[in-house]
Amino acid sequence: MDLEKYKKSYQEIEAFQQTKNLDYYAHPARYYVKPFKIVGNVYYIGDSKVCSHLIDTGDGLIMFDSGFQHSVHLLVQAVWEAGFNPADIKYLIHSHEHFDHIGAADEFRDLYGCKLVISRAGADVMRERPELVYLKACPNPYATLFTPDLELEDGQVLTLGNTSIRCVLTPGHSPGVMSFFFDTCEDGRTYHVGYFGGAGFNTLYREKLLADKLPLTMRETFLESLQKVREYPVDVVLGNHPRQNETLAKREQMLRQPGTNPFVDPGEWKRFVDELTGQFKEFMEAGN
Ligand SMILES: [Zn+2]
Repeated sequence: MDLEKYKKSYQEIEAFQQTKNLDYYAHPARYYVKPFKIVGNVYYIGDSKVCSHLIDTGDGLIMFDSGFQHSVHLLVQAVWEAGFNPADIKYLIHSHEHFDHIGAADEFRDLYGCKLVISRAGADVMRERPELVYLKACPNPYATLFTPDLELEDGQVLTLGNTSIRCVLTPGHSPGVMSFFFDTCEDGRTYHVGYFGGAGFNTLYREKLLADKLPLTMRETFLESLQKVREYPVDVVLGNHPRQNETLAKREQMLRQPGTNPFVDPGEWKRFVDELTGQFKEFMEAGN
């Protein structure tokens, strides 16, 4: 994580990201990533900016996160290119309620009839504090919220086919962040998969929380959420944005060294949680 950038003021970072975003909105196809199998029945179908994943449960597909509204075509292309039909998606589960993770939700439901899923806390934000989805930060004027078909409670288990997903509320980055844990099998081995649903510090600046009329205690809540899931057994970490778990570097390594799978790393989850915890404490100590 680039802690240097957090030494700039929050406004500087917003302005910087906005210039990068404009390029992204004009040319989403430049950020396409060829989909690939991570492990077992779990596939990467996101782009190089925002992660999306697909699970083939044997009784339909589960998709995690629907990216930006303007890159829906990348997701559709990726699902087909991974060897699946988007009409088989039964649940489209969202890690949290920000515009860069929910953008194509309505498009997917309208086209394919999947059920749109998010935590109840995330659904509450969309109902009661829709400004916290930050649609205004998105240059695309057509980005929208969605009305969920299913709202997940903390600890709820969602099952489809051979896959049961434990859904754990881990607020901080946003009030509605959920993290997900499930098992997958490959060559007779079972792997525990873990997905932390929102890791960015960008919403946790003191001045940002005040501007958003969110309690400053969200910062402690974030640290508590990390501790809440630290002890989960995880062999494979999924990212929320590719840079957070080096998704694309791991993919490169897979291609360079066929037969190895850098996504399988039983130490990574605790390392990820501990590094994020340490970095966030540094971030706060730096006066943000
Ligand atoms: Zn977010």
